Amino acid sequence: RFDVVIVGAGHGGAQAAVALRQNKFAGTIAMIGDEPELPYERPPLSKEYLAGDKEFERILIRPAKFWDEREVATLLGSAVVKVEPAAHTIETASGETIGYGTLIWATGGSPRKLVCSGHSLKGVHAVRTRADVDQLMRELPEVERVVVIGGGYIGLEAAAVLTKFGKHVTVLEALDRVLARVAGEPLSRFYEAEHRAHGVDLRTGVGVECIEEADGAATGVRLVDGEILPAQMVIVGIGIIPATAPLIDAGAEGGNGVAVDAQCRTSLPDVFAIGDCAAHSNRFADGATIRLESVQNANDQASIVAKTIVGEEVHYEAVPWFWSNQYDLRLQTVGLSTGHDALVVRGDVAARSFSVVYLKAGRVIALDCVNATKDYVQGRALVLAGAAIDPARLADAGVPLKEMIP
Ligand code: FAD
Repeated sequence: RFDVVIVGAGHGGAQAAVALRQNKFAGTIAMIGDEPELPYERPPLSKEYLAGDKEFERILIRPAKFWDEREVATLLGSAVVKVEPAAHTIETASGETIGYGTLIWATGGSPRKLVCSGHSLKGVHAVRTRADVDQLMRELPEVERVVVIGGGYIGLEAAAVLTKFGKHVTVLEALDRVLARVAGEPLSRFYEAEHRAHGVDLRTGVGVECIEEADGAATGVRLVDGEILPAQMVIVGIGIIPATAPLIDAGAEGGNGVAVDAQCRTSLPDVFAIGDCAAHSNRFADGATIRLESVQNANDQASIVAKTIVGEEVHYEAVPWFWSNQYDLRLQTVGLSTGHDALVVRGDVAARSFSVVYLKAGRVIALDCVNATKDYVQGRALVLAGAAIDPARLADAGVPLKEMIP
């Protein structure tokens, strides 16, 4: 039995253990993960790690000795398959039963699979784990043509890296623009143009019929209009499904994610949930229940749980932020743009340095900043304040955003 058992050794799980020790928690801690590795950073998997610019050791969240020194037991390579809330125990796939005082569920999600035929062929990849990317990189030397299915951040980042490797890359997006779920049209159109300028065959509004195969390996992607795009590699980036089955089976409330309150408590006694799998009411989404898939959210929720466990009174209301690197473009976002009713572009799109400022009922709710770190840093205060600012003033890039802070 451990005083705290953390399930999931990713961003949220690691930060929960770190934060517990930072907050002088003296009890026993175990962190259980189904991947064989110690916790590592996931964002580089579609960026520096995929590009070969960073070795695996450099993306570890903490070096191995850190966990020993902080007395965090790491049990890796086996999934938790069952939770018994009444007994306060969990069971692993390898047959171990482990008792907990408090359980922190930090399991992230598994990549959504295509529903069409061919989704599990050799050459078809998700980009979620180190193992996914290592396998993809092993196959890459033999690959000339890649089709990326899904024009979200992960698909676009992978496309940018593979283009740099000289691969012929096609990106297929079902909706009428890339990044449609997370950004406004000017940002989508900008990234579409960038990818095309780098030689990517980017197509929007296209449906995938199936993956073509020969001898168990992918040979191309067939579109619903019958066209076949030859490819030796297919990368699927169409979102994740929160990994919550054992908790939901144990009776936790939830649907798309496990429902948590402002301290990240689930409906089960002594069970918290954090990160990608936690459905929470978010102040920056007008209180709507959402899941956020970002390092910021996983880390901030982990810290809330650690503080709650040591008896501090806190609640989650962190400003969401996120980043994406594609080519030499650094996108930084703050706030949540969903539900905006107006937007303003400030800066010089042609010079590849600009921001999209999102407003709702006249108030700033979010910014997407491309190679515009000052706007990102200063815009954060506008989002926090929900500042009401004249759009014409926001559009004037000659006036720093900090001068508009009320
Ligand atoms: P994870 O970090 O996914 O950790 C969950 C762990 O739990 C995993 O190891 C999983 O295998 C394990 N697990 C699942 N089920 C079980 C089980 N039953 N038993 C034991 N272990 C289990 N975010 C950003 O903010 N910026 C970015 O630029 C960015 N880029 C990204 C690029 C890629 C390629 C990916 C995949 C994600 C990116 N993200 C980015 C998102 C970010 O990585 C996630 O939001 C973050 O990892 C969430 O942390 P988490 O702890 O909830 O889940």
